[in-house]
Amino acid sequence: RANRLFHPADSVIDCGGVKIGGKEKLAVMAGPCSIESEEQALRIAQGVKAGGATLFRGGAYKPRTSPYSFQGLETEGILDMVKAREATGMPIVSELMSEERIPEFEEYVDVVQIGARNMQNFQLLKAVGKMHKPVLLKRGLCNTIEEWIMSAEYIMAGGNEQVILCERGIRTFEKYTRNTLDLSAVPIVHEKTHLPVIVDPSHATGKANLVEPMMIAAVAAGADGLEVEVHYDPRHAWSDGAQCLTPDAFAQAMAKCRQVAWAI
Ligand code: PEP
Ligand code: MN
Repeated sequence: RANRLFHPADSVIDCGGVKIGGKEKLAVMAGPCSIESEEQALRIAQGVKAGGATLFRGGAYKPRTSPYSFQGLETEGILDMVKAREATGMPIVSELMSEERIPEFEEYVDVVQIGARNMQNFQLLKAVGKMHKPVLLKRGLCNTIEEWIMSAEYIMAGGNEQVILCERGIRTFEKYTRNTLDLSAVPIVHEKTHLPVIVDPSHATGKANLVEPMMIAAVAAGADGLEVEVHYDPRHAWSDGAQCLTPDAFAQAMAKCRQVAWAI
């Protein structure tokens, strides 16, 4: 179903009113790694909107490496994002980790993110295949593009064809970056499928100073959008502070992206 051969036109996915794909307009989802409070969500949402973001991202259910790390505000975090949507008009994107939260996500969230660690959680993929919301499917840490496309196929086979792919870097031997951004995935996904593909330079690099150049490179490579982590106080962010841009740095990076983009 994802195959370009049987569907030559680019798919355009309606994400709560913002369209992603089809070279229309670059879709930029930005926001904190973790939602920390209603005030934090609101302040960052307003900041990223001013910088040119079109969707607000935030984590309420967090897939943390350590069980002793902050696990997310859960439902409270989702409701904080709903407040941010009411205040800014931006659709919201958040990660779903378990089937039992599907009713909550159907009710409140505009785009359901499936994180890298769950890219091959086939039971979860089948379940979101029955949802009525667009799904942002991140590439697994150690998965090939072919496996990633097959995971999209799992969702589409269930009847939900609203799938957006997100390249977020893969594990290699390189240690100067958190992951290695595989930018060639963008034209490959466009060649093999009709689905939109966006790039997450934050998790791909793990370092704030590398985010702007990789945002620009992703736009130049033809990405349909970006997912960027932004926090007004990265040093005190509850997760992923090292890779967060401030709202000002995000706005500056967006201004540079505009110089290479067809339209933002
Ligand atoms: C995230 O977007 O917050 C996240 C956890 O990303 P990934 O699944 O790509 O690691
Ligand atoms: Mn993160």
